[in-house]
Order: sequence, then structure tokens, then C-alpha cells
Amino acid sequence: MKNLNWKVFTVKRDSATQDSNMPVGNEHLRWVANTATLIYGQTDAILIDVYLTTDQTNQLVSWIRETGKNLKAVYLTHAHADHIYGAKILADNFPQAKIVSLPEVIKHIPAQFDQDYINRFWETKFPQKIPKEFIMPEAILNNELDIEGHKIVIEIVGFSDTESTTFVYVPSLALVVSGDIVYNGIHLYLAETTSETRQEWIAALHKIAALNPKFVVAGHKIPQNDNSPSNIQATIDYLISFERLNQETTTTLDLYQKMLTLYPDRVNPGSLWGGAKAAKGK
Ligand SMILES: [Zn+2]
Repeated sequence: MKNLNWKVFTVKRDSATQDSNMPVGNEHLRWVANTATLIYGQTDAILIDVYLTTDQTNQLVSWIRETGKNLKAVYLTHAHADHIYGAKILADNFPQAKIVSLPEVIKHIPAQFDQDYINRFWETKFPQKIPKEFIMPEAILNNELDIEGHKIVIEIVGFSDTESTTFVYVPSLALVVSGDIVYNGIHLYLAETTSETRQEWIAALHKIAALNPKFVVAGHKIPQNDNSPSNIQATIDYLISFERLNQETTTTLDLYQKMLTLYPDRVNPGSLWGGAKAAKGK
């Protein structure tokens, strides 16, 4: 059996938080980047996650074509627009590839495809850039994929930055592709979380750490950063800090600024601003 290999494609986009009430400053950090990971053997490949916009997804299609690999499947880690909207474009370009996810993830996807939600939220932030057609993934029922005899394990962990999130573990590569459970150099998306679900998120991070991976690809990372497993603990620390500072502050602004003091270099402070507002019930 030949060894597997893997590589990551990262593209930047504007932040989804475009709130005129957000404090000024840190303009150079106001962007975000998503990852898509290709795991491949001698001929076959599986892609983990896609992108939000048509343009980003077309770049991803070119990148996969250049590898010359036969794309067998596209696995979607969780039901968030920025990881699933481009899937139909992948299916059109690679008709042999199955678009798949776990049933627990799939049940949250129709809400993401709701046209009113898209018009109200995504079209106002990314006008004319969101794909017009979407595809529902097929369910995989045994939590496993396979490339040329190598096992690809899917783990479901419950809540991280949204409900029913999953990560991908490739034992033969000591690789975890974490979806949005691990963040790398980028502020976490906390707007959907509560104190209770943040504990669930920390438990999910411990589950990844217990596998002792050599490489962890975060769903959101600064493109030039490596894929160090130290990002697991860094994400745990961020959640613990947010929890502590949320207890110690009363206003959105105070929580936001105290977190920024701890994390001045993380990209996408808009995500933190959204999380701080949610934590203070705004
Ligand atoms: Zn995301």
C-alpha cells in the first residue's frame, strides 16, 4: 500500500462581520481565510471542505485540477456557509466526486440554503459573489472514508463554533483536519456559542489532542502559518480567556478590548466583536 499525502489550499476573503458600530482600529487585520485540504494517494483524492464564493471555489477547482488526481469525494465538516456553498461547483467540475457528510451535519444544511437568509445575510455582504445553486451532501453512515486502502475517520463532537461539528482524522498521516474546532491565528467565531457550548467546544479540542496528531489543519488559518498541533492548546486557551473575561466585564466593548489586549495579532477582530456582542446579549 502506497503512502498517502496531503496539502492545503488557503484563500482570503473579507470578514462576514461588517458592523458600523465596531470600534475603529486593526484595519489591517480585517480579513479571514478558509482552508480546503486535499488528502491523496497515487491516483485518488478526497477534499475536506469548500469555500463561500464562486470566485474562491473556482480557484479551488483549478488547484485540484493541477494535481491531476481523481477526486473521489468532498467531505463537509459542518453546516456553515463558508465551508459548504461552493460544493455544487465542485460537483459540476468533478462529476465522479460524491459530496458527502454525516447525517448530523446534513440536517442543519437546509437552513443555510434558505434563500431569504442568503439574501438578507450573505448577499448584502458579498453581493453577486455567492453561488446560485447548492447541493445537499449524501450521508455517510459508517463515519469512514477510504483512499486506496487507507482509512479516513470522521469524528462528530457536538458544538464547537456551531452545532454538530465534525473533524477528520487520518491515522496513517497523524493528521487532523479540524473544520472550525481549531483556529490558527484567527479570532474564533463565538456568536453562536454560550458558556455551556464553549465547554463542549473545549471538550472537542481535548478529543483532538488525545489523538496526538503531528499536523492539525484549522478550518480558518493565516495562509503562511504552519499546521502545528500547538493550535489545539492555543484554541483552548482562547476559549478559557474569553470565558474568564466575559465574567469580569459588563459591556461588549470592555470584553472586546480586553480580549484584543491578549490577542493583538489574531486576524478578523470582527468575529471577536460579534462574539462579544452575543455574550453580552446584544
Ligand atoms: Zn468557518
